[in-house]
Amino acid sequence: MIVGLPREIKKQEYRVALTPAGCEMIVRQGQQVVVQRGAGEGSGFADEEYAVAGAKLVNDASEVWASADMIVKVKEPLPEEFGFFREGQIIFTYLHLAAAPDLASALMDKRVTAIAYETIQAPNGSLPLLTPMSEVAGRMSVQEGAKYLEAFQGGRGVLLGGVPGVPPAEVIIIGGGIVGMNAAKMALGMGAEVVVLEKSGDRMRYLDDVFQGRLRTLMSNPYNIAHAVRRADLLIGAVLVPGARAPQLVTEDMVKTMKKGAVIVDVAVDQGGSIATIDRATTHENPIYEKHGVIHYAVANMPGAVPRTSTLALTNVTIDYILQLAAKGFRETVNFNSMLALGVNAYRGSITHPQVAGAIGLTY
Ligand code: NAD
Repeated sequence: MIVGLPREIKKQEYRVALTPAGCEMIVRQGQQVVVQRGAGEGSGFADEEYAVAGAKLVNDASEVWASADMIVKVKEPLPEEFGFFREGQIIFTYLHLAAAPDLASALMDKRVTAIAYETIQAPNGSLPLLTPMSEVAGRMSVQEGAKYLEAFQGGRGVLLGGVPGVPPAEVIIIGGGIVGMNAAKMALGMGAEVVVLEKSGDRMRYLDDVFQGRLRTLMSNPYNIAHAVRRADLLIGAVLVPGARAPQLVTEDMVKTMKKGAVIVDVAVDQGGSIATIDRATTHENPIYEKHGVIHYAVANMPGAVPRTSTLALTNVTIDYILQLAAKGFRETVNFNSMLALGVNAYRGSITHPQVAGAIGLTY
């Protein structure tokens, strides 16, 4: 099989779907890799590194798409790429088809086999190809929050860890899943006081066990949220209700009670946001706005700011699937790998994932 790695063309996307290390693993097991020049540049991987790893380098995306049996990408194909699709070709990437009906039609028309990172699911319901990006965003949320708490960024001029004789900042995290737990780790590491509001008792027990009393957990309800938000120097939104819009847990009146120059980082903005005053997603170019004296950070693709880390974290979890598909082909791999089978969104002219089909109005 020939595996193709085109350069990402989505604006502000600097990640790449295959590192030179991954490329070498594919070549070592006997398959070929075709890489578009510059594909790894945004993540700090030079063309020569791919060449040394055994890849064939080509200048144009069209050459990659024309020669590859399987295309590996990070983001969903854009309309400029639809013309490259070939019948039976495998595309392995984040697809988010529910939000992209035109892409779904193009995949069906061209009878492409599309496998979405985000619907590969473990038996316990977890989504292993989304986890690393939540880890990145959770850890970044504290780094960004600490930055915007600085006075010259408009913040209230508070150091997260305080110093001896001066109290640390209060970091309030709503949602104690992957994002929330990683945010808590960073905030505790920087010496802040951390409170996590959760609605799952089991999750709070788990957090209480692993952090051994270094953070406080609180049941998530409007009363507790209102009291916690008022005290927060840094408020992090990290909730997720699978398959649904994020619940709005912090009202505008609650935000009005916050300290002047406090910071909100709503990581859940990609699901609509969990804070009433987060009324739009922001970008890395223009990440914040101020409302009621509080700085709001609402970047929907936070991992994009640290593409090298994000690329390495993503490819660590995708490479095993790529190696299996490259060695065994599509049919044999999905027959034996039930997690990967759940990732199949389009096959032979149909949308094959029930939830995705439902979301774009197709009957399954
Ligand atoms: P997760 O499923 O691991 O955790 C979500 C947690 O929220 C769960 O523990 C759940 O019990 C809790 N929760 C649900 N309803 C709640 C409520 N009413 N009150 C308190 N807690 C509640 O999800 P995750 O991987 O941590 O992702 C969290 C959010 O971050 C998602 O919306 C995800 O899409 C988003 N995300 C955003 C970015 C970005 O760049 N902005 C990157 C990665 C993830």
